[in-house]
Amino acid sequence: MADNRHTKVLIIGSGPAGYTAGVYASRAMLAPILVQGMEPGGQLTTTTEVENWPGEKEIQGPDLMVQMQDHAAAMGCEIVGDLITSLDLSQRPFTAKGDSGTTYTADAVILATGARAKWLGLDSEEAFKGFGVSACATCDGFFYRGHEIVVIGGGNTAVEEALFLTNFASKVTLVHRRDTLRAEKILQERLFKHPKIETLWHHELAEVIGTDAPKGVTGVRLRNVQTGDISELACTGVFVAIGHAPASELVKDQLELHNGGYVKVEPGSTRTTVPGVFAAGDLTDHVYRQAVTSAGMGCMAALDAERFLAEQE
Ligand code: FAD
Ligand code: NAP
Repeated sequence: MADNRHTKVLIIGSGPAGYTAGVYASRAMLAPILVQGMEPGGQLTTTTEVENWPGEKEIQGPDLMVQMQDHAAAMGCEIVGDLITSLDLSQRPFTAKGDSGTTYTADAVILATGARAKWLGLDSEEAFKGFGVSACATCDGFFYRGHEIVVIGGGNTAVEEALFLTNFASKVTLVHRRDTLRAEKILQERLFKHPKIETLWHHELAEVIGTDAPKGVTGVRLRNVQTGDISELACTGVFVAIGHAPASELVKDQLELHNGGYVKVEPGSTRTTVPGVFAAGDLTDHVYRQAVTSAGMGCMAALDAERFLAEQE
């Protein structure tokens, strides 16, 4: 049966930004509802060790996110397993429709929908997704015990994925289109000295090669970006780790976006172009994109929402 729920503050997203907003909005006695979406806990649930969350020298990403969820719930945040499929910001109260059939109305909305993995857009990549092509080493690495794997990208994600995959693979080749990495120096150091990892500079993925029956990857065709030469490399797994794009589909026609889809907020705040709608975390941040900065923005969004609601009364 269709259900209608009203809340002062609706938080959309359950990453560090969403859960932190949940803690603060609950402590402000706003009785927030937080909708988790398809990935409860957000991006950190797809990684292993997190070494830069203050107060924890090392913690598993999924464990950290369970702790954040428990913390928000303990403060009084109602956490709902639902996915928002549409959002109407044209009048207050704002209206969000859930995949469950529930309609949520809210006096203020905190958007914390984060970011999703980017793909290269090759037909062969699409054809072998789930059959040798992946964007999540934590999820799929286990299937490649003793196999040779290729990782595409040169940022923190690519280097971490390459290092993690050495737990299973016999060899990992990191393929990057330039000859310098964006990844943090400490990660680069670990990468370069790892005996199972080889780095191939100035190359990009031209095609994933494989078989139909059984469906699976047998190798990749790589293009040298300097000479245009094509070469082949045998492997059974291809991990695409070329970054993430903001999840702004729900609001793309209702809020001002910039820098390729990130929600624009007033500098130094989380206020979007619609009063009463706040944005936090990777959805609005094309620069830092860290758990701790997302959590910080979640705090700011709850405080901004609290002030907005007080002004309305
Ligand atoms: P996200 O974590 O992206 O969460 C977004 C949430 O929104 C999800 O819960 C999703 O289900 C929800 N959502 C999306 N659409 C909807 C919808 N329509 N309805 C309802 N809910 C929705 N950062 C670090 O600081 N340290 C690290 O070690 C680190 N390691 C990383 C490793 C990997 C592999 C990756 C991919 C990222 C890593 N990061 C790390 C970056 C960090 O994960 C992000 O900066 C952070 O998770 C962003 O938090 P967020 O709350 O903005 O969004
Ligand atoms: P990123 O920093 O944006 O790096 C993306 C990489 O993919 C770049 O090296 C880029 O190459 C390459 N790339 C992009 N498009 C490509 C294409 N079409 N073909 C080939 N290569 C392509 O993304 P990220 O590594 O996912 O990191 C995202 C954010 O999360 C960052 O802020 C990062 O610090 C954070 N993060 C942090 C940690 C950590 O703290 N341990 C771990 C993971 C992620 P160029 O370099 O040539 O542009």
